[in-house]
Amino acid sequence: MAKSFFKDGKWVDDPRATVVSLCRCGNKYIKTRAGQARCLRCVAAAAREARHTAS
Ligand SMILES: [Zn+2]
Repeated sequence: MAKSFFKDGKWVDDPRATVVSLCRCGNKYIKTRAGQARCLRCVAAAAREARHTAS
């Protein structure tokens, strides 16, 4: 049974499935993808870096 909760400014379906982790940069982030090890900011930065180094 899915119940929605308002958390951190947005609705989450299941707060038990929400894992808040601490990024190496000091930011807290919510794991939205399996294997995600960094906050969205660092993930975006890494993706930008990867594009730069790839081409
Ligand atoms: Zn980070």
